[in-house]
Amino acid sequence: MDHFIYRDGQLWAEECPVAEIAAEVGTPFYLYSTATLLRHYQLFDDALSWGPHLVCYAMKAASNQAILKTLAEAGAGMDVVSGGEYARARAAGVSGDKIVFAGVGKTRGEIRQALEGGIRQFNVESEPEMRAISEIAVALGVEAPVTIRVNPDVDAKTHAKISTGKSENKFGIPIARAREVYAEAAALPGLKIVGIDVHIGSQLTELAPFEAAYKKVAELTPVLRADGHEISRLDMGGGLGIPYTRSNEAPPLPTDYGALIKETVGHLGCEIEIEPGRLIVGNAGILVSRVIYVKDGEGRTFLILDAAMNDLIRPAMYDSHHDIIPVTEAAPGAAHATYDVVGPVCESGDTFAKGREMPAVNEGDLIAFRSAGAYGAVMSSEYNTRPMIPEVLVKGDQSSVIRARPSFDEIINRDTIPEWL
Ligand SMILES: *Cc1c(COP(=O)(O)O)cnc(C)c1O
Repeated sequence: MDHFIYRDGQLWAEECPVAEIAAEVGTPFYLYSTATLLRHYQLFDDALSWGPHLVCYAMKAASNQAILKTLAEAGAGMDVVSGGEYARARAAGVSGDKIVFAGVGKTRGEIRQALEGGIRQFNVESEPEMRAISEIAVALGVEAPVTIRVNPDVDAKTHAKISTGKSENKFGIPIARAREVYAEAAALPGLKIVGIDVHIGSQLTELAPFEAAYKKVAELTPVLRADGHEISRLDMGGGLGIPYTRSNEAPPLPTDYGALIKETVGHLGCEIEIEPGRLIVGNAGILVSRVIYVKDGEGRTFLILDAAMNDLIRPAMYDSHHDIIPVTEAAPGAAHATYDVVGPVCESGDTFAKGREMPAVNEGDLIAFRSAGAYGAVMSSEYNTRPMIPEVLVKGDQSSVIRARPSFDEIINRDTIPEWL
C-alpha cells in the first residue's frame, strides 16, 4: 500500500497533485511520501513487538537527510555500509548506539570514525576485519561491540546481483567455521561479542530462504553460548521484497516475516535487529518524468523520456520492472499502445522497458515510475552531464525539495583545472 493514488483523474502524492509539483520543480524528479515511509517502518516495528527489537533502516536504499530524519524520529536505527553513510546518519540526528555498521570492506578510517563517534555494533565479515577492529579499539582504549556475519549457504532465489547468502558470495564467514572465528574474536583484545548477524540477499519474495537461514542461526546460538560467548542480539538482516507489479507478485508481509522470526529464534531470549531497506522506501517513492518525443521506429514505437539510466539504473542493472503510469489518468476505455520506453543517454542499455503495453501518451505528457524509492536516487550519477535530479518529499499537503537540482555551473565548478594547464 502506498499514498500515490489517482483522484479526479490526476495522480496525487498524499494531498499534493503530482503535476503541480512537476510544474514547480521541473522534470525529472524523485517524489517520496512520508505517510508511506512511516507506515512501512511501523509495520516492521509492530511485527517485532513480541520482544525487544530495533528496526535498523538500511539507508543505502535511499539516504536523503529528510528521509533519515523522518524514520529516525519514528524510532528507527540505521544500518550503514560506509563512513559517508555513518556521517549522514549522525547528521540526521541518529545516535551512535542505534547505528549498526555492515559491509565487507570497512576501512581502518571508517572503523576509527565509528568507534570515536559511537556505534551499536560492527557486523564483522571476515577475520582480517576483526583483527583491524581489535587493533583500532585497543589504540583508542575502547571496546568494540561486534557480531559476526555468518553465511548460512542458503539460496535466496533472487537476482544473482543481489543474492548474498550462498557460500560462493563474498559476504560473511561460512557458518561451518563460526565456532572457530568466534573463538578468535573472543581471544582478541578490544572486541566485545554481542551476537550473530545474517543477511542473505535482497528482494526476496518467499519466506522459505529466510526460514532456512534463521533455523541455522537458531541452532548456532546455543552452540556459541556453550563455548562461552555472549549472544544477546540477533541481527536477521534485511531483504524482504516488494511488489514491483501491481498484478501478479505478492511477497510476504512484514507481519508474516516478524512471525517467522518469532517462530525460529524467538525462544532464544535475544534482542532482535532487522535491516530492511527496500520494503521501507521502495513503494514510498516514484520517479516523475516527461515524454520528450514519441518516435516511430521499424516495427516499434519509442517513448523517449527526459529521465534516463543515470537517474534510475535498476532496469539496466538488474533487468528490473517498474510499472509506468501516466500522471493524468487514462479515461476508461482509452487507447493503449506498446512502447519501448527509453531515456536520452547514448547507450542502448538506456532502456527502461521493452514492448511495454500502457495507456497511450503524447509528447509533453508526464509519466511516473512506481516503486522507485529504493536504490533509485542513491544509485544515480551525472553521466552525460545530466544533473542529479531533485528529490521532493511530501507530507500531507506540504511538499518540499529535499535535494535541489544542481546548475551546470555547480557541476562544472567541481572540476579543477591545474595551474600548469
Ligand atoms: C542491502 C542490505 C540490506 C537491505 O536490503 P533490502 O533488500 O533493501 O532490505 C540489509 N543488510 C545488509 C547487510 C545489506 O547489505
